[in-house]
Amino acid sequence: MSEPIQPILICTDLDRTLLPNGSQPESPLARPRFRALAAAPNVSVAYVTGRHRELVMDAIAEYDIPVPEFLIGDVGTSIYRIQDGTWTRWPEWAKHIGESWGGKTPDALAALIDDVDGLLLQEPAKQGPFKLSYYTPQDWDRPALLAEIGQRFDAQGIDANLIWSLDEHTGTGLLDVLPAAASKQHAIEFLMARQGFSHEGTVCAGDSGNDLAMLTGPLQAVLVANATSDVRADATALAETAGLGHLLYQARGDFHGMNGCYSAGILEGVAHYLPDTVGLWSDPSLLRIEPD
Ligand SMILES: [Mg+2]
Repeated sequence: MSEPIQPILICTDLDRTLLPNGSQPESPLARPRFRALAAAPNVSVAYVTGRHRELVMDAIAEYDIPVPEFLIGDVGTSIYRIQDGTWTRWPEWAKHIGESWGGKTPDALAALIDDVDGLLLQEPAKQGPFKLSYYTPQDWDRPALLAEIGQRFDAQGIDANLIWSLDEHTGTGLLDVLPAAASKQHAIEFLMARQGFSHEGTVCAGDSGNDLAMLTGPLQAVLVANATSDVRADATALAETAGLGHLLYQARGDFHGMNGCYSAGILEGVAHYLPDTVGLWSDPSLLRIEPD
């Protein structure tokens, strides 16, 4: 008699969460073990990222990470299902989130806020039908200027999420203006509902400011160990304020010889909620390790 196998959904950010493109070292076994986990028949992987589809495909090739079953791209504004190499966008999601902006385009929103101090439009490739993205100075007066932007949108009946994060490599602030319904968290919940994944079988992972809402809400979550101390403190405060501290696991390393950074932190966090998953990657014969 074998027990019924639980479907598992792992939702992970890419840059500096699954991808080891931060300043901390990566444990050598972490990515091979993540590939083994993703290959298990009952495990589905969704990438949840600010990247658009082409940049996700670049990352898959460059870092030898698995092709996911789902992509929540453009900071939650697009959802794709990937089957047999074909990427299919879910039109229901675009319809759902488009209602937040009252049918207005990103250009129409930009015209309302372009004169706000310190805003510099990002490159066209980083814009999307439901994503308006700016650079800001690192020391931008966030509380005042985000409030100003919010007021201008409110006056036009536009329901937008304003998500600011810091690119630690360049020291540049990044501001994404998104439909209110288009958060990473809501996209994951939409995916869970449509595909029948349970709360207990779903774990999400991230590292930075634009992951915080996803990590401190009602989903089982893990913050990887390479997150900055500011992000750790913000995440702890947000989760505890919401009474959801038990749903935020902070990877600490010293776990099966790994340091808790990047994919090691994902494995550690998934194992915190779903201990049986260790058996899906701990046997060395499951690992494909390429020589450098
Ligand atoms: Mg990240």
